[in-house]
Amino acid sequence: MRGAGRTGKAGRTGKARRSAEDVGADRGPPFVQPGPDPSNPLHTRPIEFVGSFPDALVRVDPALPEIAFIGRSNVGKSSLLNALVGRPGLARVSGSPGKTTLLNFYRLPEFYLVDLPGYGFARAGKGARAGYRKLVTGYLRTRSSLAGIVWLLDIRHQPSADDLDMQKLLAESGRPVLAVFTKADKLTRSGLPARANELAEALGLQPDQIQLTSSQSKLGISELATSIVAAAGEDS
Ligand code: GDP
Repeated sequence: MRGAGRTGKAGRTGKARRSAEDVGADRGPPFVQPGPDPSNPLHTRPIEFVGSFPDALVRVDPALPEIAFIGRSNVGKSSLLNALVGRPGLARVSGSPGKTTLLNFYRLPEFYLVDLPGYGFARAGKGARAGYRKLVTGYLRTRSSLAGIVWLLDIRHQPSADDLDMQKLLAESGRPVLAVFTKADKLTRSGLPARANELAEALGLQPDQIQLTSSQSKLGISELATSIVAAAGEDS
């Protein structure tokens, strides 16, 4: 009997060894750190934080294609970036959103991921909003190395006025955009497809323009990584 080895005399005999071996059977697989996901082309690359910049025209050296990430504050952008590259501490997952007003550059090494500040932060004042708009509009409109934009939307919510503003700005920019629906784990598996269709329809998007993701369950993460590598102009 399994429990017998943990009490009384038997615990100090050979049975103790057997009970340690049995831990796996009792409590699931042994404790191991998850390694890189071989199906994710971003997990095996070295990544380097280049810097945070307040200027849409900042020159980074070397000049390489850029893939930008944008979405409403709290949409799950930092969590998604961390899941994509398989480094949990890379981008800061915030309890208090809206603090970043800088462009964060990560080199990977053949292209950059650019974390744009989140929009729609309720407590942001007029001046902060104007500064935000100048930075992001400038980046989306004028950045010649911008190869693609990953636009994040929380799958549970209808697009906000800020989301629709952003959609206009993205369309005007003329860049390739992939809409990523985040936090898919918050829905039931059976409810997910209908909700994804509903949100895609509200945004006028076709199925090939969206990707469902969850940073928690890792749904869609390696697929998104593959799309990013392709958009950056590389084979994975
Ligand atoms: P950001 O402000 O867009 O960078 O969002 P964060 O990555 O900081 O996430 C905001 C909140 O949403 C945090 O509490 C995260 O733990 C949570 N979150 C982010 N991604 C997911 C996800 O895929 N599933 C769930 N359930 N929660 C998430």
